[in-house]
Amino acid sequence: MTKYAMVVDLRRCVGCQTCTAACKLANATPPGVMWRRVVDVETGTFPNVQRVFVPTSCQHCDNPPCVAACPSEATKKRADGIVTQDYEMCIGCGYCITACPYEARFKVEDVDFAYGDEPMRHEAEKYNDDMNGVVQKCTFCVDTIDEGIAKGLTPGVDPDATPACVNSCIANALTFGDLDDPDSNVSKKLRDNQHFRMHEDEGTGSNMYYLWDKGEIRL
Ligand code: SF4
Ligand code: SF4
Repeated sequence: MTKYAMVVDLRRCVGCQTCTAACKLANATPPGVMWRRVVDVETGTFPNVQRVFVPTSCQHCDNPPCVAACPSEATKKRADGIVTQDYEMCIGCGYCITACPYEARFKVEDVDFAYGDEPMRHEAEKYNDDMNGVVQKCTFCVDTIDEGIAKGLTPGVDPDATPACVNSCIANALTFGDLDDPDSNVSKKLRDNQHFRMHEDEGTGSNMYYLWDKGEIRL
């Protein structure tokens, strides 16, 4: 089987937000919508405090509360672990937004563009009228993954089969791959480094792992 996951090395992230910008470019998300965020967090107790930059997005949970909350089956989990959103089936009720503990979902009433009425080239290419009035979120760049696999590429290894945020990171803080493959980049990193998953006590089964040895950080 395949089980896709992302590993975020908090020791490496410098908070540049290049991944946020790469996601916006790749997915043409409208103003105010950030499928990928990088949150500036202070941890510790004075005077032993530390500033940490925490990239976050949909965690493609194993037990996704958004899927359980969705009354129209617009949100589903694929066999490879990716949680998808079907814009045509979504009725825009927003129950999934309330259910998600990671604040990873956005409802857009009227899709607009970064600079007025005229779309930029990437916005024109990606514009989808079905996204008006419904909920959207990070897809792990599922189209890129599927197209890459069809060409015989490996997600997390070949850039043309890998999420845009991972490809863009200037600090090599992000890794993507198959947790069911013991030799994958993500499996090796988790074997070799202390890590945590956010809100693990809530049983969501997040598939975003943070390399960090100073305790859990909660957003
Ligand atoms: S992070 Fe939120 S939107 Fe993503 S699968 Fe989990 S509950 Fe659903
Ligand atoms: S691109 Fe890399 S270093 Fe920059 S904010 Fe994103 S994860 Fe951090």
